[in-house]
Order: sequence, then C-alpha cells, then structure tokens
Amino acid sequence: MKSIPDRLKALKKNIQEYEQCFNRPKNSVKLLAVSKKQSVDSIKLAYESGQHAFGENYLQEAIGKIHHFTEKDISWHFIGKIQSNKTIAIAENFDWVHTIEREKIAFRLNEHRAKMKKVLNVLIQVNISGEESKSGVSLEAFPQMVACVKGFRWLRLRGVMGMPAQYDSFKLQCKSFVPLMDAINLHQPKFDSLSIGTSQDYKAAIAVGSTMVRIGEGLFGPRKN
Ligand SMILES: *Cc1c(COP(=O)(O)O)cnc(C)c1O
Repeated sequence: MKSIPDRLKALKKNIQEYEQCFNRPKNSVKLLAVSKKQSVDSIKLAYESGQHAFGENYLQEAIGKIHHFTEKDISWHFIGKIQSNKTIAIAENFDWVHTIEREKIAFRLNEHRAKMKKVLNVLIQVNISGEESKSGVSLEAFPQMVACVKGFRWLRLRGVMGMPAQYDSFKLQCKSFVPLMDAINLHQPKFDSLSIGTSQDYKAAIAVGSTMVRIGEGLFGPRKN
C-alpha cells in the first residue's frame, strides 16, 4: 500500500497536470485534505509532507484532533453540517467554514468572531443537484444568501462550496457542476474560492474551475468508521 507522503505527492502531481491540461493558471487549485475519521498521526504525516490545510466534518472529533497542532501555518476548514448550538466552537477552532446554508448560522458565527475580532473565511454551500437529501441553499435562494452574508462585518465571503450527485463519467461530472458555475458567473464573478471536487470527481472539478478540491480517502486511505 502507498504511504500518505507518496499519495500526497501523486495527488499534487495530478492537480498540476489537470491545471495544465484545462488551461488553468498554475497553482490556482489548492488541495484541502479531508481528515475526518483519520488519526492525528495521519494528519501529522501529511503536515510534515507539506500539506497545511485540513477539512473536518464532525465538531467533537475535530476539536480533539486540532488541539494536537499548535503550528501557525496550519488551517482548519469546517465542511460538515452545522447545528446552531455548535457555532461558538466552530468560530473558535476553524479558519474557514464551507457550509453556510442558513442565515441564523451566519449571524451567530459573525457574533462570535466579532468578540474575537478576527474575520472568518466562509463559503456558501449550494445544493447543486436540487436533491432534497442534500445540504445547501437552492440556486434560487443563492443570491439572497450572498446578500445576507456580505452584510456581516466579521465574515469574509470567499465563494461557494458544492457537492453534486455522483456520476462515474467525466462528462457527466462536468455537467453536474454547470448550474453552480452559471449561478456564480451570473451573480458573483468576483468570488475567489470555489470548493468543488472530491476523490471521485476532482479532475472534472478542475476542468470547470474549482480552486479547492476536498480529498479524503484519495490521500489518507479508507476512513475508520
Ligand atoms: C468526506 C468529504 C469529502 C472527501 O471525500 P473523499 O471521497 O474521501 O475524497 C469532501 N467533501 C465533503 C463535504 C466531505 O464530507
């Protein structure tokens, strides 16, 4: 089996190749290492190999791990569903939040960060596929959420996050991202961050404009449940 440093190297190489292949600027796509259900030791290995941005879904689990890292150049991204009673801990422990989908959550995160006097980077999660089981604001509600989040002084709206339905073919994967790209280009051409693409579909995500691919098992191997 390949090691985490080897997989990291290979992933970075792939990302660079796809940037070239799809005429994306060099280094325009960042890797977010999704470390949910992965150990502190695995995260340390990735960190020591040069990976400094990590994504976590479950607050309690994440906090238990984050405390093991005091390095200044490590950043933590919250990519899970947010309950409103968890907003203080999220505001205190994370540098980015990808999963803003309710005004109440944005309001509370803003309040906590105001006390800390520290701006939080946020993305609005958009439900690209329109499936009811999926999180995120609808494409219809997206402009209103943009306006809402922009009104908060301590939130810096950097862009959007999406999780489309899963397809096997590259073509269908690209197509599944299109509604999101349209919404962004129409409403917010100035966003600098687009968090799309996982282990399964990051090639397609890079082809259509992703700036952050969120990769878990492709880097760390199978998750322990
Ligand atoms: C788990 C997860 C990922 C990573 O998925 P992999 O298949 O392990 O690459 C990306 N984004 C979100 C929101 C996730 O929950």
